[in-house]
Amino acid sequence: MLEKVLIANRGEIALRILRACKAMDIRTVAVHSKADADLMHVRLADEAICIGPAGASESYLHTPAIISAAEVSDADAIHPGYGFLAENADFAEQVEESGFIFIGPRSETIRLMGDKVSAKDAMRKAGVPTVPGSDGPLPDDPDAIIEIAREVGYPVIIKAAAGGGGRGMRVVHNEAALVNSVQITKGEAAVAFGSDVVYMEKFLQRPRHVEVQVIADGKGHAIHLGDRDCSLQRRHQKVIEEAPAPLIDEAARREVAEACVRACEEIGYRGAGTFEFLYEDGGFYFIEMNTRVQVEHPVTELITGVDIVQEQLRIASDLPISVAQQDVSFAGHALECRINAEDPQTFLPSPGRITTFHAPGGPGVRVDSHIYDGYTVPPFYDSLIAKVITYGEDRDQAMARMRQALDELVIEGIRTNTSLHRELVRDASFMAGGVSIHYLESKLEDG
Ligand code: ADP
Repeated sequence: MLEKVLIANRGEIALRILRACKAMDIRTVAVHSKADADLMHVRLADEAICIGPAGASESYLHTPAIISAAEVSDADAIHPGYGFLAENADFAEQVEESGFIFIGPRSETIRLMGDKVSAKDAMRKAGVPTVPGSDGPLPDDPDAIIEIAREVGYPVIIKAAAGGGGRGMRVVHNEAALVNSVQITKGEAAVAFGSDVVYMEKFLQRPRHVEVQVIADGKGHAIHLGDRDCSLQRRHQKVIEEAPAPLIDEAARREVAEACVRACEEIGYRGAGTFEFLYEDGGFYFIEMNTRVQVEHPVTELITGVDIVQEQLRIASDLPISVAQQDVSFAGHALECRINAEDPQTFLPSPGRITTFHAPGGPGVRVDSHIYDGYTVPPFYDSLIAKVITYGEDRDQAMARMRQALDELVIEGIRTNTSLHRELVRDASFMAGGVSIHYLESKLEDG
């Protein structure tokens, strides 16, 4: 078993990792920027090391500082959390070359999945359903591009192979705009991602976002923990997530999850991962794989009873996955609301001092948060400050508990999006289930 883990992250996920380490008697090292000395996990960790100034590029993204901290604290392993360096193959490689365990997949796997063309290709070969499209990079020849688009059928979307965070994509509705749009996307991709490789997919009009959670031991064995629906999004950022995804045929659900397991076994995947799909008219279409723990992992934990972060720590310790697929049972329903330090109308960040924090409680309520009375939310990082998660025997009960939990939640001193969440868990379409990824934005536009 690992003896000491360095947590290369901040905020709620750093605290989540610390809790999993404590539960497994693993010592912890918190690394933090100058702006983050007051973080809850920094106070609770066995050791804390300041690795640089507030700016993430000089602290949480600064590989040499993190590796030096692992050396001076004599940690065995580094947990990257999500965001920051979690999906940076060079970081994973340098961690392992420096003699530490990277808690995540091998760097080759991160690299394979970080390039969307190679990721899609690997998935197609493993039998995971993908969006119909160019099946590889687009050629330079304009006539060839036109021919591919005719076969795929309009509208199509041009996507950068190295793109991420919802950037580097352009929808094309007709042939007249095609070749020019491809050129523009290539130019933008070269500047933004350092590669002008683009590919084409059919543009799905009203899909849902459904994703499958997997855990794999890196030795050819994997299991899945079912699916989640994360369709409520604004600017490609998830706002509310739930598990399982509602209103999906059980056979189709099982089939896609089993395809993900086979893909993991085929590529020798290691650790926790998520296969993201667009889901439309009963079909699943793979878009990308996230090679890390996700923000929304708790909803899966609540319906399966499996602690995903502890599984990551077990796998990094070279132990087998603690549960066999046939022993994973799916019970009830869970919802997660992401509470952000932001204005609920303008969505502008609202950092500052929290004067009062009161967390909700009661049966089926979990709050993952690093904030406390008197904590100051710094302006430098992501605005996520709390995740309110509820469990119910069914979706209605989870939803009722979420309404109550959000009504109990008090955060004063800064603005938060709690009022938006209170509205969403009373929204008739969301309550009915199965809204598309465009639902929230069109609701916000309608005011
Ligand atoms: P990123 O890595 O930038 O998040 P993704 O490939 O995951 O890129 O796509 C981000 C979002 O773009 C998706 O969640 C979806 O909203 C939209 N999108 C991507 N591909 C398609 C497609 N083929 N049809 C419709 N929407 C798409």
